Amino acid sequence: MSKQIEAQLREKLSKVNSRISAACARVGRSPDEIKLVAVTKYTPLELVQEFIEIEQASLGENRPQQLIQRSQELSETVRWHLIGQLQRNKVRAVLPFVELIHSIDSLKLLAHVDRVAGEQNLKPKILLQVNISGEESKSGFTPKEVHQAWDEISSFQNVEFSGLMTMAPASDSEALIRDSFRGLRKLRDQLNEQTEAFQLTELSMGMSSDFEIAIEEGATIIRLGSVLFTGRESLQ
Ligand SMILES: *Cc1c(COP(=O)(O)O)cnc(C)c1O
Repeated sequence: MSKQIEAQLREKLSKVNSRISAACARVGRSPDEIKLVAVTKYTPLELVQEFIEIEQASLGENRPQQLIQRSQELSETVRWHLIGQLQRNKVRAVLPFVELIHSIDSLKLLAHVDRVAGEQNLKPKILLQVNISGEESKSGFTPKEVHQAWDEISSFQNVEFSGLMTMAPASDSEALIRDSFRGLRKLRDQLNEQTEAFQLTELSMGMSSDFEIAIEEGATIIRLGSVLFTGRESLQ
């Protein structure tokens, strides 16, 4: 790989890791509690290849088709996370390749994933995507829907409920962003209180522009794309 690109990737990763550590330190958490998912949706394959030579990473793609293709092109040790909308007609093809699906955004999709997983003899780990901010442009369950349907949601047996995912509102207001992360955590804690069969452990929240706030509010998984792969000295 080009020495220059390798050096830039290493530097970006090391800066991100320092920022993760600093955010953790502010709230008395350990960086070991934070899983970094490197979002490669806009990153050319060659650069992803170089990245995984530096870091044993989990990679996130938002399109099932690209996830499947790249999981065949890249090393088998990559753990693939699906972070974008999943159409029902892609479920069968993508399930065998994913470590975690972040974007289960409706009861209909959940029911379909559960059925296909049963047929494929798989038990995929999933997160429910929740629209905490209430923005119309965002998909996901509303917190109210999750509460109302929780008995039905939590009864599916062919998936493993790992936790919840949200995207912060598109806003410059740190307070609004923080509120939405706090809301996700509160929802998880409420659901855990009323659930005996399993516990939701993961909170997937925080992207390049807001991951430090997310860590302060309890994120266990952060999804970072641009801060790792683009910037002033663009790698692409
Ligand atoms: C693209 C994307 C990210 C990463 O966004 P950046 O701002 O580039 O870090 C994270 N989560 C989801 C769901 C995405 O679609």
